[in-house]
Amino acid sequence: MSYFELDLNLSKEDAALKKETHKFAKEVMRPIAMELDPMTPEEVIAPASPLWTFMKKAYELDYHILPFPEDFGGPGLKPIQIQMVMEELAWGSFGLTLMLNTSLDAAVAMGGGEQHINQFTLPYCNCKDGSYIGCWAITEPDHGSDTLVTGYPEFRDPNIGSQCRATLDGEEWVISGQKSSWISGGTIAKTILLMCQIDASKGHAGSGMFLFDLDRPGVSKGKPLDKIGTRELNQGEIFFDNVRVPKSALVVGPEDYEDALAAHLSMTLAMVGTWATGLARAGFDEALEYARNRIQGGKPLVEHKNIQDKLFKMFRQIEASRQLCRAAFVYNWSHPMNPEKRVIEYSMAAKTFATQTALDVTSDAIQIFGGYGISREYIIEKLFRDARTTLICDGSNDTLTVVGGKKIAETYPRQFYKMSKLGKRLHA
Ligand SMILES: Cc1cc2nc3c(=O)[nH]c(=O)nc-3n(C[C@H](O)[C@H](O)[C@H](O)COP(=O)(O)OP(=O)(O)OC[C@H]3O[C@@H](n4cnc5c(N)ncnc54)[C@H](O)[C@@H]3O)c2cc1C
Repeated sequence: MSYFELDLNLSKEDAALKKETHKFAKEVMRPIAMELDPMTPEEVIAPASPLWTFMKKAYELDYHILPFPEDFGGPGLKPIQIQMVMEELAWGSFGLTLMLNTSLDAAVAMGGGEQHINQFTLPYCNCKDGSYIGCWAITEPDHGSDTLVTGYPEFRDPNIGSQCRATLDGEEWVISGQKSSWISGGTIAKTILLMCQIDASKGHAGSGMFLFDLDRPGVSKGKPLDKIGTRELNQGEIFFDNVRVPKSALVVGPEDYEDALAAHLSMTLAMVGTWATGLARAGFDEALEYARNRIQGGKPLVEHKNIQDKLFKMFRQIEASRQLCRAAFVYNWSHPMNPEKRVIEYSMAAKTFATQTALDVTSDAIQIFGGYGISREYIIEKLFRDARTTLICDGSNDTLTVVGGKKIAETYPRQFYKMSKLGKRLHA
C-alpha cells in the first residue's frame, strides 16, 4: 500500500479488497497505460494493442461491473467498497478506469424492463473478454456545458437547440444529428445511452434517453481523438443519419429527463472525483519516492524543509479529497433516484475539489522532480497531463461551480441572525 489511509469504516475484508485491487493497478494497469500513452489514437485501438490485453484481464476479474448487484452477475459490493476499489484502479490509470466505466447503457438498462436487461445488462455483466463496450453520449460539438446544466433557465431555453434530435415515426424513433468528439469509448462502442432532443419547446430539458446498439444503418463514427492526456482512453464522435430504433429504445422521456440526468450526475460526479483522488495519490507517491532518492545540498530532498512542506500540503489535499468524495459517493449512490434525498451539490463539490487537487498535486510533484519532472522518462509528466483533462470531463469545473453555487444560494435554509447596531445603520 502506498501510504497509511485514515478510514475508520473499513473492515478487514475491505482492506483485502483494496490490496488486491492495488496489485492489479500496479502490475497490470500502470504498465499498459504507460505503453499506450505515446501511441497514436489509432494505434491505441488497433487489434494488436495492449488495450485489449487490459480489457480482457479487467473483465475477467469483473472490474467493469463493480456497481452491479449480484442479481445481474455483479460482485454486489457496498457503495463504500465500490468507491474504494475505483480509487485504487485510478491510481493505476485514470484513463483506463474511465474506459471500464463507459458502458452506462448496461447500467441504465438495469432499471428498465426485462427486454432491456436481456439486451444490455446481462450480456455486459456476462462478458469476460472485454468485447462489450458501451458509451454514453450527451455532449455535442456546439453544446457541451449547455447539455449538462440541469436546473438552469438556459437548460430549458427553447432558443438553445440541439444538434441531435429524435422524432417518432409510427412504431420507430428516427434519430439524426451528431454527438461530440469527447464521447468516451465513442469509436469502439457497440452500444449507446444516447441523450437527444425530442421536444424542442423545452430546450435541452426536452430530451430523452435512448438505449440501442450502434450496429444499424445510418450510424457512423469519427476518427479517434488525439489529446494531451488520458491518451489511453478512446474518445470520438458519433453521427446519426436517419437512424431508426424501436419505440422501446426510449427509456426516459422529456417529462422525467431533467430529474434522471440530475440522478445520473449525482453519481458520476462523485465517481470522477474518486478517480481524481487516485490519480493525485499516484502523483504524491512518485514525488515522495523521488524525494527520498534524490540528493541535493548533501542530503535527500525529503530532508529539506520546503520539500516536506510541499509533501504535507499534497497529502492534506488528497486526504480531504478522499473524505469528501467518499461521503458524496456513498450518500448519493444510496439515494440516486430520490430527489428529496439526493444532494448533487456534494458530488459537484467532490468532483471540482478532487480534480483541482489532482492538478495541484501532480504540478507540485513535477516541481519536486525538478528538470526530470518534465522529461518523458518519468511518469509524472503523464500524470500531470492526465490531471489536466479531469477539470473538463463530466462537466467543466467552472460550470459545476456556477450550478452548485446557484443551488446553495436558492435552496439552502437561511440563517436568521441578529444584525448588529452598526449593521442596521448601514442597511437602513
Ligand atoms: C476526458 C473526457 C471525457 C469525456 N467523456 C464524455 C462522454 O463520455 N460523453 C459525453 O457526452 N461527453 C464527454 N466529455 C465531454 C465533457 O462533458 C465536456 O467537454 C464538458 O461538459 C465541457 O463542454 P465543452 O467541452 O463543450 O466546453 P464548453 O461548454 O464550450 O465550455 C467552454 C468553457 O466555457 C465555460 N462555460 C460554458 N458555459 C458556461 C456557463 N453557462 N456558465 C459559466 N461558464 C460556462 C466552461 O466552464 C468552459 O470553461 C468528456 C470530456 C473529457 C475531457
